[in-house]
Amino acid sequence: MAGIELRNINKVYGNSFHALHDMSFDIRDGEFMVFVGPSGCGKSTALRTIAGLESITSGELRIGDRLVNDVDPKDRDIAMVFQSYALYPHKTVRQNIAFPLLMAGLPKTQIASRVDEAARILELTTLLDRRPAFLSGGQRQRVAMGRAIVRKPAAFLMDEPLSNLDAKLRVQMRAEIASLQRKLNVTTIYVTHDQVEAMTMGDRVAVMKGGVLQQVDTPQNLYNRPDNVFVAAFIGSPSMNLYEAVLNGRTLTLGSNSFEIPDRVFEYRPSLNGASNRQVIVGIRPEHMNDAAVRPSSAEISAPVTLVEALGSESMVHLNIDAPWVDAGDPDAVADIGDEKAAVARFSPKSTVRAGDIARIAVDADELHFFQPDSRTSIW
Ligand code: ATP
Repeated sequence: MAGIELRNINKVYGNSFHALHDMSFDIRDGEFMVFVGPSGCGKSTALRTIAGLESITSGELRIGDRLVNDVDPKDRDIAMVFQSYALYPHKTVRQNIAFPLLMAGLPKTQIASRVDEAARILELTTLLDRRPAFLSGGQRQRVAMGRAIVRKPAAFLMDEPLSNLDAKLRVQMRAEIASLQRKLNVTTIYVTHDQVEAMTMGDRVAVMKGGVLQQVDTPQNLYNRPDNVFVAAFIGSPSMNLYEAVLNGRTLTLGSNSFEIPDRVFEYRPSLNGASNRQVIVGIRPEHMNDAAVRPSSAEISAPVTLVEALGSESMVHLNIDAPWVDAGDPDAVADIGDEKAAVARFSPKSTVRAGDIARIAVDADELHFFQPDSRTSIW
């Protein structure tokens, strides 16, 4: 087992395309680390440089205590699991799992016992004599995992391993991989573009955008204390609502709406104290906006309702808030909302608001997020 250390890693493709910018962070021994970000942000490139499938332009990469910049992929003591399972169709499950050990020249008895052990852990024991064509997608995925774990590598690297599976199986396999990783306690890096997958599986999550690391943190911290507007919008679905606003003393003005922020908010954000017409970006998560008719609050705004999606347990209420909307730079976030500049609020199913109404919205002012308009970083 081993930790992985990235120090000022840069990757330039060809002469000019800078795919990774000065990435530095540590992955602890036994940790489940997820790389997440929109398409093209460089997550696969980061994983492939760690695997040795891409060279590093500059920087230092260590697996365990060993500098591996120039070490061949096969000598890095890592196992990769890809989205295409790459199983041998004419070999049985047993032969597929045994293959890497056969290549490594292990004695037959040792191969047999390692395959049996992997099959037991992955609940594949009764399927060992089948060929891949006679397995379900989830079972094939487990065989691919089996091939990785028999080698007892220092680390697993997984690149979107579940993207070929249907939604239900993905959820099941997500839980299986996370619990398997905890059982084996092997350092794991898992690449996904799906923030829900990232949040549910990772001990920590590295959020990337445009080849630049945005924040490496626990799922809880990413959600509750995002470092910048991009992370704030990327993590959470529907996305955090972000608007330009003005803070004057305790009064926050959001377009034609104003409300008072409680004193206690300023105790844990001292730099907001005594603001005088200060421009800020304010972030409000959908669950922190409720129907004021159902749950009143001292901080209220009103806005026209453009759409109500009744989900049974709650209603997603789209609101046309008349403050300048902030583009967080995440194309997926806009697609989620469907309506580019609408805010989304999660109302209680008891709410009776309908499209066309002017809704009174109770804002949970304790849960507001504030960002600098220029640097777009969090204000604390
Ligand atoms: P996705 O989720 O779409 O797989 P990703 O975050 O994994 O995206 P990468 O595959 O790491 O992104 O690619 C990062 C950027 O580097 C992209 O803009 C991509 O076009 C570029 N890139 C990747 N491989 C090469 C290559 N061999 N030569 C030149 N550019 C490349």
